[in-house]
Amino acid sequence: MIIALLGNPNSGKTTLFNQLTGSNQHVGNFPGVTVEKKEGMIKGQKNMTLVDLPGIYSLSPYTAEEVVTRDFLLKDKPEAVINIVDATNIERNLYLTLQLMEVGVPVVVALNMMDEVRANGDSIDVQMLSGNLGLPIVPISAAKNEGCAELVLKTLEVAREKDRPRGLDLCQGEVHRAVHAIAHIIEKELKATGLPSRYAATKVVEGDPITLSKLNLSKSEMEIVETIVSDMERNLDTDREAALADMRYDFIANACKDAVKKNGNSRELQRSIRIDEVLTHKVFGIPIFLCVMLLVFFLTFNVIGKFLSDGFSMGIDWVTSMIDVGLSNLGINEAVHSLIVEGVCVGVGSVLSFLPTIVTLFFFLSILEDSGYMARVAFVMDKLLRKIGLSGRSFVPMLIGFGCSVPAIMATRTLASQRDRRMTILLTPFMSCSAKLPIYATFSAAFFPDHAPLVLIGLYVGGMVMGVLYGLLLKSTLFRGNPVPFVMELPAYRLPSAKSVVIHMWEKAKDFLVKAFTIIFVASIVIWALQSFDARLMMVSDGGDSLLAAIGRFIAPIFVPLGFGNWISSTALITGLSAKEAVVSTLAVLTNAEVSMLPQVLGAYFTPLTALSFLTFTLLYMPCFAAVAAIKRELGGMKYAAAAMIAQCGVAWIAAFAVYQIGRLIVGG
Ligand code: GDP
Ligand code: MG
Repeated sequence: MIIALLGNPNSGKTTLFNQLTGSNQHVGNFPGVTVEKKEGMIKGQKNMTLVDLPGIYSLSPYTAEEVVTRDFLLKDKPEAVINIVDATNIERNLYLTLQLMEVGVPVVVALNMMDEVRANGDSIDVQMLSGNLGLPIVPISAAKNEGCAELVLKTLEVAREKDRPRGLDLCQGEVHRAVHAIAHIIEKELKATGLPSRYAATKVVEGDPITLSKLNLSKSEMEIVETIVSDMERNLDTDREAALADMRYDFIANACKDAVKKNGNSRELQRSIRIDEVLTHKVFGIPIFLCVMLLVFFLTFNVIGKFLSDGFSMGIDWVTSMIDVGLSNLGINEAVHSLIVEGVCVGVGSVLSFLPTIVTLFFFLSILEDSGYMARVAFVMDKLLRKIGLSGRSFVPMLIGFGCSVPAIMATRTLASQRDRRMTILLTPFMSCSAKLPIYATFSAAFFPDHAPLVLIGLYVGGMVMGVLYGLLLKSTLFRGNPVPFVMELPAYRLPSAKSVVIHMWEKAKDFLVKAFTIIFVASIVIWALQSFDARLMMVSDGGDSLLAAIGRFIAPIFVPLGFGNWISSTALITGLSAKEAVVSTLAVLTNAEVSMLPQVLGAYFTPLTALSFLTFTLLYMPCFAAVAAIKRELGGMKYAAAAMIAQCGVAWIAAFAVYQIGRLIVGG
């Protein structure tokens, strides 16, 4: 039995999904977090699969995720739909409910966030509302796990009895006439499509191209339809989509009139409005955001994360030396000994030591996200993004890009136009992903110990600035035209839930650990092997004679103008394509430095200036293979992805060249 979970963005779908299935999907307090459907079995029930769909406001598909949801509903025909409704914003949320009623699938309304409704002193007469809508309604609080058991039982009942919404006639007057007349005309074609009659008729009135092409009406039928609809438009003096929207909102207003009692503006709303006056201020909004980020970086890199990371790397050094001693005592073969200690321990260890920093950073970011602040930042950023031809909507994927480009590129599916999507995909890699942090941290500890947070912020901001310039270039060449208007809804400020913050941190830590013990593990072994043998597979005593050095030397000339033309850094950049953390592990393996010693050792290969140039290059050059694969998938072809990557490497080269050459003029040398 398949149950679909459907509702507006940010109404609590994923929270409910986690509650009902016991899984730990990412919950975020801004719209557009879930972009793919996710399935899970409902706890304590046999054979009930729950599908978490991306949030949508209506069934008229404008964005890729709305298409996913609508197709699922019409093609997979779930046994029942749980329509989750945010009770604090009930009129708006019921708009989708009404469309579900038109489709005619069995629906249960889960009236969520009842805890907030109570706290606001509002009340909702569930029974009356249920009568007015002709739908079963269960009041719940997904976050507090109230009413979830009742909801499951009700859903089961509805699905078993195929309890469709009572055939309430939603419309009156002109719209009513048009819908029914058209239902009559399309009767014949409808059978072949399998679409619900009322739904199809409404869609034809709206002029929905997908439904129209499915129905494939004859020319004369199209003419009659057009006459009916334009008559309706003329009599009502609005266009067709607005006429239907008005009809639905009227119905909702009637249904809620007596059932929903609001105690003025809700407490939450008033509080949110007051906070927003400051945080989304026209002038101070962006400076406040920068200060917040500065504070987060300071706490992460200078206070908490640094303290934890230092302790952690000492622990790793200790484990490495224990293994070293143990292997010596056992008299293990020297090559194997070297492989384990100098290859695996050093390589994996150098990356692992950043785990605490990354987890700390994500602790802060998930608090910012969960509280609802990040959605404000998207709002504040809209004006800026518009300048480069994007809308505030693109901010969400870009923000996710600071974590990892792969989900960020997937999150562009929430964007309504192809143009906005493609452009956002191309710009996301400029948002420095968290895998690059170990590189920045290692180099700033080595060369700028007193100004580490400044260098880090500089890199992040530098990435964004390059993104902006690149965006301006794209806007005036490949992507002329205008972005779609920004209509993201600002969620209420909420106290971040401990559970969701922990899940967020754990997800990040897990990704990181998995990477360390798979990609980085293998890369370390490969690097060790290439560094320990020469072309005739003889073990070399000096790494400079190795196969790897030969490869590194081959490409090193490209980087001479950038100041770091040594084979060690070129090799690290290549291995960085498997995963950016590998840059650090490669440097560690090649210099054979203990994890906590790496910063000191790097002094032999870089000056502060060439380190800066190297950092600029790593910041901007092409993303890891996983991200390239995502770009290829979403842009729809290797051709485009390859072009994007070449462009990106070019940008990186030019930027690093500028840094090095200008720096040389300033410091001399
Ligand atoms: P989705 O976008 O529909 O999947 O919504 P999420 O599950 O990601 O939740 C959006 C926000 O609403 C998160 O900040 C949740 O913590 C919060 N939330 C979800 N359910 C409830 C609830 O019953 N009560 C309250 N107060 N907050 C909730
Ligand atoms: Mg979700």
